[in-house]
Amino acid sequence: MSIFKIIYWAGIIIEIAIRAPYQKGRQDAARTDQRVTATEKTLLYLLLLGMGVIPLIYSVTNWLDFADYSLPAWLGWLGVVIFACALIVFALAHRDLKSNWSPSLEIYANHTLITNGIYGYIRHPMYASQWLWVIAQILLLQNWIAGPINLLVFIPFYLLRTRAEERMMLDTFGDQYRDYMQKTGGVVPKF
Ligand code: SAH
Repeated sequence: MSIFKIIYWAGIIIEIAIRAPYQKGRQDAARTDQRVTATEKTLLYLLLLGMGVIPLIYSVTNWLDFADYSLPAWLGWLGVVIFACALIVFALAHRDLKSNWSPSLEIYANHTLITNGIYGYIRHPMYASQWLWVIAQILLLQNWIAGPINLLVFIPFYLLRTRAEERMMLDTFGDQYRDYMQKTGGVVPKF
């Protein structure tokens, strides 16, 4: 297996480890709002496909070999740097969002609006991390199917999710979130 494939799977394990503590206790927490649509659920499953299932098929079988491409080594290493940034942003976002995290759109009974740490710069650090990840994936998994598949799925997810999420946050936190939006960027910091 190539070094870049190994690094990709190490990244998957690191993301699972970063997220694991925040999964605990979440199921039983009381909710005051839940906006999970069928479209969103479908897109979440497609993300799992683009990030995990297709890369796994590419890594352990030769079924996708016909679509391989080969990039100069420096581009692969650039992918590693972008990938590492994705993991750092992912870790910071979890550290700051704490128990407010949810894989779908939900408001917990004890939800607090987080505006500090990395959330003081951007409103969507987890999605920023995913942008970095999907770019890195193209450089690490050098295959026309396994490389760009996650980007293709993430674009519609990102557009739908941020719109619905910001609507939900505005409905819940009103002017507090409106003020927060003025001071921050979405995935790129505002200066
Ligand atoms: N969009 C954020 C959070 C993703 S997790 C990011 O990219 O980092 C999605 C959940 O986070 C949603 O259910 C929402 O309730 C919650 N959320 C989003 N922004 C928040 C904030 N600033 N403070 C508290 N909860 C937030």
